[in-house]
Amino acid sequence: MIDVESRLQALGRVRAALPGLQWVDDVAQVARLSQDFYWYSPVLKQQLAGRVADAVVRPRDVEELRALVGGCAREGVSITPRGAGTGNYGQAVPLHGGVVIDFGGLNRATWIRRGAGRAQAGMRLADFDRAAREHGHELRLLPSTYRIASVGGLFAGGFGGIGSINHGPLGAPGNLLGVRAMSVEPEPRLVELRGAEALQLHHMWGTNGLVVEVELALAPAQDWAEHIVTFADRDAALEFAQALSAAPGMLKKNVCVLLDPVPRYLTRLQEHLPAGAHAVIALVAEVSEPALAELVSARGGNASYRAAAADVGPRLPTLQECCWNHTTLHALKVDPTLTYLQNSFTPGIHLQQVREVHALFGDELMWHLEFIRGMDGALTCTALPLVRYSTEERLNQIIATLRQRGVRVNNPHVNTVEDGKFGGTLSPEAVAMKRRLDPQGLLNPGKLRTWAGDRQGGDKLEASRPPQ
Ligand SMILES: Cc1cc2nc3c(=O)[nH]c(=O)nc-3n(C[C@H](O)[C@H](O)[C@H](O)COP(=O)(O)OP(=O)(O)OC[C@H]3O[C@@H](n4cnc5c(N)ncnc54)[C@H](O)[C@@H]3O)c2cc1C
Repeated sequence: MIDVESRLQALGRVRAALPGLQWVDDVAQVARLSQDFYWYSPVLKQQLAGRVADAVVRPRDVEELRALVGGCAREGVSITPRGAGTGNYGQAVPLHGGVVIDFGGLNRATWIRRGAGRAQAGMRLADFDRAAREHGHELRLLPSTYRIASVGGLFAGGFGGIGSINHGPLGAPGNLLGVRAMSVEPEPRLVELRGAEALQLHHMWGTNGLVVEVELALAPAQDWAEHIVTFADRDAALEFAQALSAAPGMLKKNVCVLLDPVPRYLTRLQEHLPAGAHAVIALVAEVSEPALAELVSARGGNASYRAAAADVGPRLPTLQECCWNHTTLHALKVDPTLTYLQNSFTPGIHLQQVREVHALFGDELMWHLEFIRGMDGALTCTALPLVRYSTEERLNQIIATLRQRGVRVNNPHVNTVEDGKFGGTLSPEAVAMKRRLDPQGLLNPGKLRTWAGDRQGGDKLEASRPPQ
């Protein structure tokens, strides 16, 4: 392990060689840019408090990035990449000081054409989406943080979200076309990775390569109207959401179910959410609204809110920012003692599993579901249930019980790629990519459980442990 003094001396030499870069000196700024949304988790809140970078740098172009990365590699200074810092697992929190690279300066669309687009990693998703719309296209998938989250951050740290009802997760074949990555070496290389090879950097939290550009498949642009439909009966809400999600002729971009009492936490929408009701939030193309109205009527729903696409944004807040992990954010504003989990259910029996776990945990878990297509296209739902937190031990019991019942849990209360993503070990392909693009182990050190140990100049690979 490098001691702090040697670490700071090494950093001083990098800085002395590159005085023209944008170095962030303000202590409060450095602290802010070392954080993400890990505080959603009471466990990580304790674990990651006070972890701060030694310096933050914001390269303005790829040449500045290359100079910085080469300097860090020569001096053995660790690097934590950062987009907008909206990740939830402490993904972008530096555990061992070093440099945080803020990608916000690399923020241009490279090109957009024929159903595909390419952007620099630091470009905001909302800006990329807007640029695509000028060409009659839109991003297939957006996290609910799309306003500020970056293209590179979604690729390296995210899953998908709004649009996954049509296109599955970002990692489903065909969504991601390629990336340009930079190696962390004294003479950094830029490499172009396509398809499955590019996916070796997906959701790896920036541990096995710096992402410089991302190329995505796009969808034809639509005008998305936003709706809330409420139901007195839980199963009617679930069946309605299932039918809407499955309807092949109805264009939609998101279908979210908030079982009572979750709607109570959307304080700004209370006039549209009758007490005790279960709510479905749906983004539907305006051309599909007549079919939606028929479905609402057939299923006994109450259409309580509608916003035309043109009004969302300029006149009305968007319901997209009530879905996915924004629901948790709204709930935390009302009750900061809550936390959450991330689950997915087995296609085909997903509604049955929802009913089971709803009954099993009572109000300790409050259910918020997002309908999606899985990696193979099968319709299912995922969940971001709100949890009435008591102790870490109880949280782990809940996770174990869900897993025993065949419900997948991506644990958001851990800070390693392996445990958060799949609870197992790294694939040989991901390890090979780490060796290829980060041979000194300088990228986001401490986030790979199977890459721990002596950090003399970087992390080293341990023998992979079997899944636990
Ligand atoms: C309220 C809320 C709602 C959310 N909703 C969703 C959702 O709907 N869907 C979803 O998938 N996620 C969601 N998230 C998580 C997060 O917002 C998204 O994953 C988002 O895309 C992350 O982008 P970012 O720019 O903030 O990345 P950051 O948080 O800055 O980074 C994420 C990870 O990527 C790495 N990284 C960033 N840039 C690069 C780069 N250029 N090269 C290599 N590695 C890099 C970082 O080191 C970090 O490990 C939500 C989070 C919050 C707080």
